[in-house]
Amino acid sequence: MKLLILLRPILSIVFLLSIIIAKNEQSITILGENNTMLGKADILKKDQYYISVNDFGKILGSGSFVNDKTEKIVIYVDSFKIKLSNNIAFIVVDETIYQMGNKIIKRDNEYYVPIDDFFNILSVHGSDSHSIDYTTMSITLGPKTKKISKPIVVADLIKEKNKWKLDTIIIDPGHGGKDPGAIGYRGTKEKDITLDVAKRLVKKIERNMNINTILTRDEDVFIRLEDRTKLANSENGKLFISIHANSAEDRRANGFETYMIGTNKNAAAVRTAARENAVLDLEGGNTKKLTDEALIKATIAQSGFANGSEQFAALVQEEMNKRLQSKDRGVKQAGFYVLAYASMPNVLIELGYISNPSEEKKLKSSQYKDALATSIYRAIEQYQKTLNVN
Ligand SMILES: [Zn+2]
Repeated sequence: MKLLILLRPILSIVFLLSIIIAKNEQSITILGENNTMLGKADILKKDQYYISVNDFGKILGSGSFVNDKTEKIVIYVDSFKIKLSNNIAFIVVDETIYQMGNKIIKRDNEYYVPIDDFFNILSVHGSDSHSIDYTTMSITLGPKTKKISKPIVVADLIKEKNKWKLDTIIIDPGHGGKDPGAIGYRGTKEKDITLDVAKRLVKKIERNMNINTILTRDEDVFIRLEDRTKLANSENGKLFISIHANSAEDRRANGFETYMIGTNKNAAAVRTAARENAVLDLEGGNTKKLTDEALIKATIAQSGFANGSEQFAALVQEEMNKRLQSKDRGVKQAGFYVLAYASMPNVLIELGYISNPSEEKKLKSSQYKDALATSIYRAIEQYQKTLNVN
């Protein structure tokens, strides 16, 4: 007991010292030619040091272009344009993608990048050599790295804002024509269910909302997967909803689920994606397959929409759960070709399993199809509200 009382002042001094040391470590000095100080950048210490990209951009004079909605930040170092996205381990320098050992962190509206990885990538990309010294907490920039002044274009900021207004929704009824999609236990074709629900959804939106809707098909025709997203992109869609019905060998499988593109996939999700991508074989010609590498690229390209896609997917599940007597299978990720190239928040909804005899029966009834369309419609309403708040 006595020993503890004696130790207490010593412990508190050690504790105070550690706070002081930790405080000193919260910034790193950036030095230019002849060791002139250019400025200090905030850092974070986790398993390694991270530097604030916002500060680094400011110090170099190029500033940083931040889009809080997409959680992307662009800075210029030397003449390189560097794009970073929150919670992603990839950075894009000019048009080349590099992978870092750790993800980018966002804290208090600042984006932090692992220092060693970041400067390594810069030198691999051909930047001047920079030296990092963690004993003096300083980074000495190569002599060629000059402060530059680059005005931030206000017009771009306005354009960015308008880019998010929910004015056009692309609704994509899966399959069609020579591609029936999944076939139900009693012969129901997926392509008919998806078109029927899509048309009901369009009617509800047009009746109640001031939003333009575009169907990728409004009759029983075959459309290539890539043409569906091409249309969505060329029409400047702000939300892409691909509608499908699922099928499984196990006839007991049932329920509704909503997918977003991503590399975090489980076996069942992979099977669903493989089935939905199988139409590529019918397309013939030189349609590219979605390789793992292409999926990673697509996931990075879509990191800016990932929040929107995830939010909308969650709302779809929530609204369906309110109305449908079926199993909520949740929001999932997988590599769907039809989603890969959409430049907007996008989801793929599996309305239910037509391979399950009782679910097939439900999916054929107008009442059930109407409940499905209403659920998606309500999810759009909720989603629009979240856009207005932010
Ligand atoms: Zn399908």
